Amino acid sequence: MSLIIGLTGGIGSGKTTAAKFFALLGADVVDTDAIAHELTQPQGAAIPAIRKIFTGKFITAEGALDRKEMRTLVFSDDGWRRELEAILHPLIRIEVARRAALFSAPYGIVVVPLLLETGGYREMIQRILVVDCNEHEQIARAMARTGMDEQTVHAIMASQLSRQERLRRADDVIANDADVLHLRQQVDALHKKYLALASKG
Ligand code: ATP
Repeated sequence: MSLIIGLTGGIGSGKTTAAKFFALLGADVVDTDAIAHELTQPQGAAIPAIRKIFTGKFITAEGALDRKEMRTLVFSDDGWRRELEAILHPLIRIEVARRAALFSAPYGIVVVPLLLETGGYREMIQRILVVDCNEHEQIARAMARTGMDEQTVHAIMASQLSRQERLRRADDVIANDADVLHLRQQVDALHKKYLALASKG
């Protein structure tokens, strides 16, 4: 496959929802958040390194990453956040590459929340698709979906690229300020565009 799109956006912007619509239209989709979850389940490949570097305090009785405990630490301390990313990101990239090699649809979507912040996917992707949302909606949706308080959502947003900078780097943008139908219509239009681009090789 020649066309792989990197889909990104801030917390709660609508990345997962957009990716689901692309998948429904037949695109191959890989979501790095889902891979991160798998890596941090009991027996997950990231658990031994997390236990070693962060101690057992961050591992639940079942042997999974204690996400809440870890979130509190890493979004109040950049150094620890980088330590966690240094464990997870290389493992995630390997798994994304493995799955992308199996893609068979005309184009593929790789969902990477920190695509622009971390790099590492530039060689794999041909275009950057940003899901954009005004910050007021973004915070409300992120709080509703995750149950995090506003302060935590703000801390996560502060660790991510600014909305402006993200938009500056986008090849394509989905504006997700309105309802889900509006999001779906934009995905439909992009699907046609990506099919056309893919057919040109
Ligand atoms: P995260 O960064 O937290 O993983 P995300 O960018 O993947 O989030 P979604 O999970 O797709 O975002 O959306 C966040 C929440 O907002 C979800 O509960 C989703 O159902 C809802 N949502 C997404 N788009 C819209 C919309 N246009 N209108 C209303 N709710 C929406």
